[in-house]
Amino acid sequence: MRSQTGLSPLAAMAAFAADGLAPYVPSWATGCVLLCLAMPFLLFGQKGKARRVPDGQFEKRRCPECGKTTVFRECVVEKTYTAYRVINLWKSESTQFSCDACGALMDLDDTEPAELSAREQAQQQAIEAKRAAVEAKRTKVEAKREQARSLKEAAEREQSIDDELAEMRSRLGLTKDK
Ligand SMILES: [Zn+2]
Repeated sequence: MRSQTGLSPLAAMAAFAADGLAPYVPSWATGCVLLCLAMPFLLFGQKGKARRVPDGQFEKRRCPECGKTTVFRECVVEKTYTAYRVINLWKSESTQFSCDACGALMDLDDTEPAELSAREQAQQQAIEAKRAAVEAKRTKVEAKREQARSLKEAAEREQSIDDELAEMRSRLGLTKDK
């Protein structure tokens, strides 16, 4: 079957499609230019993964993201810097802590002090008091040791003066007995 213009139906359809697309060509070209301009910004990215450290450090803290007092566990966060998402450029590793409740990763310094129950608070205070007592005892022992050392040094100094005097006397032919 032939159309009125003498073209085959397929050619007519192609012509119609070209006509139909014509108004879009400039905007398509503009889109391409915009994409090319955006390329440098799309070029670099990073992806990361976190691994929990087996037997790593953990601490009870309050999570600023989910607001729960929970255990934060030590994780190694590996970041890979990429180009076009598939080309790996370089890697970096850092230590962060993950919230047991929501999985948020952050530095321990960014977490908030744990909300403790009355019993836990009492325990904490007892531990604190014990630590202070141990510290005081250590300081006392240290002071005593320091005192003993200075006494010993003074005695040694005195002894060396005595020795020097005795030597002088013997050199001059004077002895204690005479
Ligand atoms: Zn959380």
